[in-house]
Amino acid sequence: MAHKINDECVSCGACAAACPVSAISEGEGKYVVDADACIDCGACEGECPTGAIQAD
Ligand code: SF4
Repeated sequence: MAHKINDECVSCGACAAACPVSAISEGEGKYVVDADACIDCGACEGECPTGAIQAD
């Protein structure tokens, strides 16, 4: 299990700064979560201004 970022992402980068394990990086047109690194803490969810992050 890992958190996922959907197409509502506007690539602001707020989530990447909040992730304690640096699992979030900029991808093609949106940010992406590295499912292998994510520990499902949920810290990124509240940081997203468009609500693009959800638990998988
Ligand atoms: Fe990082 Fe936690 Fe979000 Fe996973 S749930 S991407 S570990 S901030």
